[in-house]
Amino acid sequence: MNLVLLGPPGSGKGTQAEHLVQKVGLAHLASGDLLRSAVAAGTELGRKTESYMKQGVLVPDEVVIGLILEALEGKSGVILDGFPRTLEQAQALEQALGQRSQTIDRVLYISVAKDELIKRLSSRWTCKQCQAPYNLQGAPPRQEGKCDRCGGELYQRADDQPHTIRKRIEVYLTQTVPLIDYYRRSNRLTEVDGVGEVAQITRAVLQAVGVEG
Ligand SMILES: [Zn+2]
Repeated sequence: MNLVLLGPPGSGKGTQAEHLVQKVGLAHLASGDLLRSAVAAGTELGRKTESYMKQGVLVPDEVVIGLILEALEGKSGVILDGFPRTLEQAQALEQALGQRSQTIDRVLYISVAKDELIKRLSSRWTCKQCQAPYNLQGAPPRQEGKCDRCGGELYQRADDQPHTIRKRIEVYLTQTVPLIDYYRRSNRLTEVDGVGEVAQITRAVLQAVGVEG
């Protein structure tokens, strides 16, 4: 069984990938790790990948797909995480898998409303003096706006500010909606509500792939 795991930043996708690895025994192929391990392995595709990365350009889709096909060999199933990101990539992947009589069997989309994502992702504040991180939702400082360790002032880094996060999420959704439609049309999409207790979300994810939580 080959899965694609989709979810915006802040959806908790990484946690669910771990559960799928543990309970279903699928190999987790996160696109960043896939590229790095190919470079480390020094295969022909790995050397190609390395040269693109050194030039600071995006690794072309056909190279990433080649790495995925290599990684699939000898495995009973994988979770693709981070690829495909666009409709074009999904179509190219489908074609390449088809040539090997393989396919993407199921696509899980962990959906979380935009405002909730912004709330989750913009809750990180950092100490100006010692850089200690705080999470206003999970691990807030004892005194509002002040570092527990050094008393320094807490601030939000540019990456953590709501307007930056909103933009990041909007880019993700714009890219991903056509991809979601594509898999929905072929009856492979399961949308899982990513808001609520983690255990409950995990149960829904496992049910979607036919495993009892
Ligand atoms: Zn501090």
